[in-house]
Amino acid sequence: MGDGSVRRRIRVTGTVQGVGFRPFVYRRALELGLNGFVRNDAAGVLVEAEGPPGALDELERALRHDAPPLARVSGVEATAVAPEGSTVFLIVASDAGGRADAPVSIDTATCAECLAEVDDPTDRRWRYPFTNCTNCGPRYTIVERVPYDRPATTMAGFTMCAACQREYDDPADRRFHAQPNACPACGPTLRYCDPTGALLAKADEALDAAAAALAGGGILAVKGIGGFHLAVDATAEAAVGELRRRKARDDKPFAVMVADLAAAAELGRLGPVARDALVSPRRPIVLAPRRAGAPVAASVAPGLPELGLMLAYSPLHHLLLARVGRPLVMTSGNRSDEPIAHTDDDAFERLGPLVDGVLTHDRPIHIRCDDSVARAHGDALTVLRRSRGYAPEPLALAGPARRAVLAVGAELKSTVAVASGRAIVASHHIGDLEHLATYRSFLQAIDHVCHLGAVVPDVVAHDLHPEYLSTKLALDLVAGGDVEAWPVQHHHAHVASCLAEHAHLEPVLGLAFDGLGYGPDGTLWGGEFLVADFEGYERVGHLEAVALPGGAAAVREPWRMALTWARRAAGAEAALALGRELAGEERAAAVLDLVERGRALRTTSMGRLFDALAAIVGLHPRVTYEAQAAIELEALARTVAPEDAPRYPVPAARRDGTFVVDPAPLVAAVLDERRAGTAPALVAAGCHQAIASAAVSVGAELAARRGLNTVALSGGVFQNARLSTLVADGLRAQGLRVLVHRLVPPNDGGISIGQAAVAALGRRPPA
Ligand code: ZN
Ligand code: ZN
Ligand code: FE
Repeated sequence: MGDGSVRRRIRVTGTVQGVGFRPFVYRRALELGLNGFVRNDAAGVLVEAEGPPGALDELERALRHDAPPLARVSGVEATAVAPEGSTVFLIVASDAGGRADAPVSIDTATCAECLAEVDDPTDRRWRYPFTNCTNCGPRYTIVERVPYDRPATTMAGFTMCAACQREYDDPADRRFHAQPNACPACGPTLRYCDPTGALLAKADEALDAAAAALAGGGILAVKGIGGFHLAVDATAEAAVGELRRRKARDDKPFAVMVADLAAAAELGRLGPVARDALVSPRRPIVLAPRRAGAPVAASVAPGLPELGLMLAYSPLHHLLLARVGRPLVMTSGNRSDEPIAHTDDDAFERLGPLVDGVLTHDRPIHIRCDDSVARAHGDALTVLRRSRGYAPEPLALAGPARRAVLAVGAELKSTVAVASGRAIVASHHIGDLEHLATYRSFLQAIDHVCHLGAVVPDVVAHDLHPEYLSTKLALDLVAGGDVEAWPVQHHHAHVASCLAEHAHLEPVLGLAFDGLGYGPDGTLWGGEFLVADFEGYERVGHLEAVALPGGAAAVREPWRMALTWARRAAGAEAALALGRELAGEERAAAVLDLVERGRALRTTSMGRLFDALAAIVGLHPRVTYEAQAAIELEALARTVAPEDAPRYPVPAARRDGTFVVDPAPLVAAVLDERRAGTAPALVAAGCHQAIASAAVSVGAELAARRGLNTVALSGGVFQNARLSTLVADGLRAQGLRVLVHRLVPPNDGGISIGQAAVAALGRRPPA
């Protein structure tokens, strides 16, 4: 053109499709007077623009820094090409060819603009529960294949009306290429049914009927974004108690949904971290200390000082809450620990018998996705269940993957992940792989992440535990001949999941404090000090190994671990005396016999030590959900300021090549406190202090001996905010850098991510 115009081809990678990226580029290009085009392709977004170099520089800057809210830009690379004399800027239709590895966005809470329309009686989307735009709405749960386009979603069966189509086609519109775009004239319709599926009301009337049922204390199944919730008035004790009975759920807390931040603040004490998390478009359940006198039924979270709170995240939630006018229990629509129901047939079959009515609609959910759970740890958020609003957001790998990996995770809190190129894509939370239905859901999740990540795995990374269903599946795949095995020790995977989240390639000292994980020596590990990187690990310290009497029974019945530890700390007589109080003479004697004859499995689990301490302190000798006793021990400890905690003898470390931490002196002190009748909260706080001190002193010494300056904290025990804060602060005070979990759960929900990173970045599988 001879006017100083140049042309650049700009490749944008990351989560840039289905998030309003092309209209954003289009508007910027027009503002800057640039010509050319933007289009989606299988690798992300491709821009070609020509005009003055300064304007192109500004466009590149905007691509990096001003992207729309749902976009996650991971790369912007420009190359000079020959000017073509373009005179317009165009949005070009999707090119479905090539590799389909452009990440799909997360499911995102309804944006303020959409909500304003839903509340506006003059708007054509007034009271419309499926309102969405390019900045908000369902994504991961409705997409069936990539590239992400309407025919590839569960909206394929709905034909847009002329008004919706105009929005969809207009680059200046907020709904330009919003794939789930819909309105009352053309989109999904709400239906209210009785528990057998008979239709009672549609659309607005369905909403009113459902709201009336909830206000009257009824229990409803409500179809949401990733599945059905069971909903009930959270202030009504009788109704919540009835839900607990019908759902066969003893004590595990229910989440509570409220309309807005002000309503959340009436129920829980919210610091800035919790507030930010609650209002974020990810909308996790946030655990927050319950306010004294908060109007919530006692049976919402029995025995716990925290409530799981979340804000409405779909227009349907907003409309329901506005009509009911009270907080609602919104718990996963399942019985006991089965997977959440996500199809209507499944809901009527499995949830029908539990509910008084079903509020559903005809927008199918392709993949089920539970709510995520997060908690403030110190001055930052830690995700404890990474699911809706987080999956399938990719994590950047610390280096290029050497091979394509499928990682099948562990057994409890199952997730799966794939790694290839520079990214790990992890699935939603699948659940505990002990039900056949959960196992089927696990297989679907594998298909979904392989598909979304466009990964055909070369290797399958798995746990060492031979009895995990995930391990068995992995070995079946290997036997089928298509993939090679990459076994990853459980606690190596935990530490690696923390390193993966921080893209940290150098070796660290990893503290893996956990429930139970299979060790290569045949014992069950869980109180481990590992020198680790993605290549491998060396066990340089651990908790004293003791009997795990009864295996899985010891997890359900913490009194068994209490006896094991009491016997070690104070002898058989003292253990029997404790056992008499906790479980009765006969059972106590039987367990001690098992321990004495050395017939039980042995474990170095820190989680089981916490269970034992909780039982001695006087908390549940039996639990109804995993780690209940330990969770309640932390809750007690948090009622005491750290500086007011009694000082107990710090567990001793024996040095014999590896450090062995023996908490017997602590256990003996806690037994004394039990006899003396000391307030349980003080004892609980003292236990946290003592274990943290031991972790810090052993950690600092091991780091110094090995010349390491970074420590990573992982494993389910680090869900404990009191402990993780004490340990992290203590290690930092020793001049160490401490990596803690933020977006990847410290519990087994993060295992697949750790496995994926190890198998993608490691040079060769362990011999
Ligand atoms: Zn919106
Ligand atoms: Zn329409
Ligand atoms: Fe674990």
